[in-house]
Amino acid sequence: MKLIRFGAAGNERPGVWLEPATPAERPMLLDVRAMAFDIEDYNEHFFAHFGLERVANLLREPGRKLVPAEGIRLGPPVARPGKIICLGKNYAAHAQEFDAKIPESPILFSKAGSALSGPMDPIILPKNVTRVDGEVELAVVIGKTAHHVAERDAFAYVAGYTVLNDVTDREAQRAAGQWFRGKSPDTFCPLGPFLVTRDEIPDPHRLQLTSSINGQVLQDGTTADLIFNIPFLIAFISATITLLPGDILATGTPAGIGSARTPPVYLKPGDRIECAVEGIGRQNNPVVKDIP
Ligand code: ZN
Repeated sequence: MKLIRFGAAGNERPGVWLEPATPAERPMLLDVRAMAFDIEDYNEHFFAHFGLERVANLLREPGRKLVPAEGIRLGPPVARPGKIICLGKNYAAHAQEFDAKIPESPILFSKAGSALSGPMDPIILPKNVTRVDGEVELAVVIGKTAHHVAERDAFAYVAGYTVLNDVTDREAQRAAGQWFRGKSPDTFCPLGPFLVTRDEIPDPHRLQLTSSINGQVLQDGTTADLIFNIPFLIAFISATITLLPGDILATGTPAGIGSARTPPVYLKPGDRIECAVEGIGRQNNPVVKDIP
């Protein structure tokens, strides 16, 4: 299944994206709440209470409530995740371009939940912030409470996967002793469009991921090159930090980011940045300047 959330920002409804059977047809959305009013949203409660199974059952019902997808805004596919945990330098070639130090254990940092935005929403450059670029990442959505999970059991705790653009203010990231401020401005975390359920992705460690600005490819990597893979990360994190249903784990970005290029490529108003992960989805965000 491809779960989506649709509607105005802050007022999204849970849905399922239905690909057309033939190219002549248009994609449709299943309006989940119109069929099951108690499924409020794709939040912690949803994942913890057999939400995925319930939505799969709705898809089989005869009286499905469908809406044409065309022209409808998509939000992030998870509502207010409890935490967004990110990996710093989890691809060797990216670690090389960033500061030439390969980490011996996972480097964790966080993005603010208020940075989340939809997969086609504008990225708003704050006033006087000029050194911003994006990072395409495969993100894992946690499906059930994970505490002291063994590597061999880790996938059972995964609800599915989505695309996360880890937009970063490089100046703030380099200036501070930590990364939170540079990683967390509003709109700096486009997520989605889809939460693709785990059953549809047999091996998340062989997916191509790419980013481009105005059609010029910057990043082109594969999740096969992750230094620390998904089961290792779930075991490592859950040894001390309980992962909750709906939490987001962004697995890091491959080489090619704009800020590491000569000359550097930073996002500017009027640009479009596209981030895609094979089999998971594609984002396309316009870049705009902040309204004074
Ligand atoms: Zn990142």
